[in-house]
Amino acid sequence: MPSDKKHIKGYVYQTMPYQVLLFYKYTDVSDPEALAAQIRSLAEGLSLTGRVIVATEGINATLEGTVENTESFIAQFTDPRFADMQYKKSAGTGKSFPKLSVKVRKEIVGTGFTQDEADPRVSTAPRITADELRSWYESDKDFVVVDMRNNYEFASGHFKNSIEPGISASRHLPLAMEKLAPLKDKKVVTVCTGGIRCEKMSAYLMHKGFKDVQQLDGGIHTYMEKYPGKDFQGTLYTFDQRVTMNFGGEREIVGTCHLCGAQTERYADCADLTCHLHFLACDNCRDSEGKVYCSNECAKQLVRSDLA
Ligand SMILES: [Zn+2]
Ligand SMILES: [Zn+2]
Repeated sequence: MPSDKKHIKGYVYQTMPYQVLLFYKYTDVSDPEALAAQIRSLAEGLSLTGRVIVATEGINATLEGTVENTESFIAQFTDPRFADMQYKKSAGTGKSFPKLSVKVRKEIVGTGFTQDEADPRVSTAPRITADELRSWYESDKDFVVVDMRNNYEFASGHFKNSIEPGISASRHLPLAMEKLAPLKDKKVVTVCTGGIRCEKMSAYLMHKGFKDVQQLDGGIHTYMEKYPGKDFQGTLYTFDQRVTMNFGGEREIVGTCHLCGAQTERYADCADLTCHLHFLACDNCRDSEGKVYCSNECAKQLVRSDLA
């Protein structure tokens, strides 16, 4: 339904002066420091904020700025290694990031996998488009969606009948292998926010003997742009100050308060600074300043440290 997409994009452009770009690509980068400097200077010149990670395996970035400046970034970032890179766009607030950070790291997504375990430059799972996955849902095909995001992201929104590995960080995927093992012979579709984590994690599943793995092309972001309110239930978590992304369309709230079970999409960090668990907490379970502890243990710990 291409007309739908235009409608959503039109909505973003007409009502929001700011735009967030999400983009990544796995490709050989022999000069990560130089590429980082090039991106930094381009982004600074356009007053963009956000996070960019450059590694010898590629780039991973989220940038916010005015619609005009973010479009200029796309037009001016002409490095041929990234010529076919896809930019995902969503409505910004102008305050999604406190500043611009461009860093060189070992990996563009911190999985800790060896190159033998997962290297998307060499091999990764075949892609399934949003349209194909939608038709699978409509025809009730025998498949299972495995959500490669962290548990707290899954909490506020996820695909119908999807499996949650239950990990709190990408590098913990090996700990979920026992839970996922029964799916080795099933038709598996991996999903994540924009697709970058699936590139490695689907490759890792294949390395571990999963026979029929595909990854959702463009991730949940692309699916929700095309089919807002369909199949993906709830809201899409994002690692910036927007916390969740809105793609329009009617949707149900699937997030529940970690403490009382009430419906909510509000995230909190446990007020105990040694815990700092990121979780869903409803308004009722917070104090007047919005503070909340994830558990009685954490609440009691505060009393102890107050007395000490
Ligand atoms: Zn509550
Ligand atoms: Zn806690």
